[in-house]
Amino acid sequence: MRAEGIETARRILCVFPRYTSSFGTFEYAYPLTDGVQAFMPPQGLLLIAAYLPANWQVRFIDENIRPASAEDFRWAEAVFVSGMHIQRQQMNDICRRAHAFDLAVAIGGPSVSACPDYYPSFDYLHVGELGDATDELIARLARDPSRPGRQVVLKTGDRVDMSDFPIPAYELAETRKYLLGSIQYSSGCPYQCEFCDIPGLYGRNPRLKTPQQIVAELDKLRECGMTDTVYFVDDNFIGNRKAAVDLLPHLIEWQKRTGYITRLACEATLNIAKRPEILAKMREAFFVTIFCGIETPDPDALKAMQKDHNMMVPILEGIHTINSYGMEVVSGIIMGLDTDKPETGDALLAFVDESRIPLLTINLLQALPKTPLWDRLEREGRLINDDDSRDSNVDFRLPYEQVVSAWRKCMEVAYEPEKLFARYQYQCDYTYANRLKVPVSPEMKSWANIRRGLIMLRNIFWKVGVLGNYRKAFWKFALGRLRHGDFEGLLGSAITAHHLIMFARAASVGQQNASNYSIRLREASVPAE
Ligand code: SF4
Repeated sequence: MRAEGIETARRILCVFPRYTSSFGTFEYAYPLTDGVQAFMPPQGLLLIAAYLPANWQVRFIDENIRPASAEDFRWAEAVFVSGMHIQRQQMNDICRRAHAFDLAVAIGGPSVSACPDYYPSFDYLHVGELGDATDELIARLARDPSRPGRQVVLKTGDRVDMSDFPIPAYELAETRKYLLGSIQYSSGCPYQCEFCDIPGLYGRNPRLKTPQQIVAELDKLRECGMTDTVYFVDDNFIGNRKAAVDLLPHLIEWQKRTGYITRLACEATLNIAKRPEILAKMREAFFVTIFCGIETPDPDALKAMQKDHNMMVPILEGIHTINSYGMEVVSGIIMGLDTDKPETGDALLAFVDESRIPLLTINLLQALPKTPLWDRLEREGRLINDDDSRDSNVDFRLPYEQVVSAWRKCMEVAYEPEKLFARYQYQCDYTYANRLKVPVSPEMKSWANIRRGLIMLRNIFWKVGVLGNYRKAFWKFALGRLRHGDFEGLLGSAITAHHLIMFARAASVGQQNASNYSIRLREASVPAE
């Protein structure tokens, strides 16, 4: 549904801020692809764009692809911005540039919803989700798009039911320039891990779209050219198990209808390994990756962070079970926990070897506002919010330098090319071999698809196989894949591995943040034109 009853037409410029360089956005991988420039289309801004009155014109700019230009700002009557804490500096910078054109700027999304005080210069703060605050913002801009005399804070009390959400305006995004497509089925998570802001921001009782909405969204993503991999950005895909079970048959039908050209991925708690009936359906729906917040292999640490649900099955067994359904596990890992000891880094590296997970996002603990961790550390006087030289705002139990150097060592060793390719080799031989054998659709055989594959192969062979400085490890892996005729395994693994190796090398010499959430900023803001 859209906002209704507004007659005045407006022109809204939606700007998504650039990310600082981070492990989770895969920018080292982009030069190996056929033109990828950004990670995922932002759900929030595209949702708002679709919700605006039908007679309003919307222009969407993702500054990860190109900066908003002077012409964009001159065209607009008001600017909308959204993003996460890590994009805070860039969001404030967009506001500054829009104000240079005397435009009213509204900010929404997770960062401002948790911390409105981070954004003193914006004209409108939209706190919370799509709802009455959105309607009020639209009504105010319809009446008068100029900048208000002082900041107006609009808080959503009444949320729009997710089953009434419009399909995000994917048509405004240059979908081919994204590494992954994004889609959202549910919001919220029933658990209460100490460090996580999801339950505080979105609630513990997951709210849902309908399966029909998801199928319509997938169709639209396909129409817009987003076919490779679509990522369910739900906080926990099995946060409501019944809902997941209800959705899966629809996804299976959709895959059958459209020829399995889209791979699916999601985030879920590791206890999904206890649900073979869900895993079997996910395999049938062509899910190929699950991101699991394993956080740590240390049971005492899991208990301390209220993540006991990760221990419902032994961790390694759980990973192996998920792999047996053809799904690769990507793992979140946290270092700097109160339970960490001097030997934690070595234990983590042993876990990396044993689990054979290729991709682990290893982060230093960061206390986010609106989390039990934040509250506890505040009580204990262990929040450090005024030191920009640190990669974490937590006063660790171990000395800061010791934690950071353990993190650097873990990054360096875990992503040594030989070790990483050995883990990918295992995934190819075991996990990927367990995937659904999908029929070769006309789309897969199309010249456009073959051309894309050839471009990527050329980039990989040239930039890694000829010019790269880990050629030996690469060719050992690549020749094995070529002998098996496994181009898909080669492409997917080599592209991701390149990012991991290059990022880890930069990280191990202190050139990258040790936390995806760190507000320490290493990139200049986008300059105004
Ligand atoms: S299970 Fe995941 S989403 Fe849920 S509270 Fe824990 S960390 Fe957050």
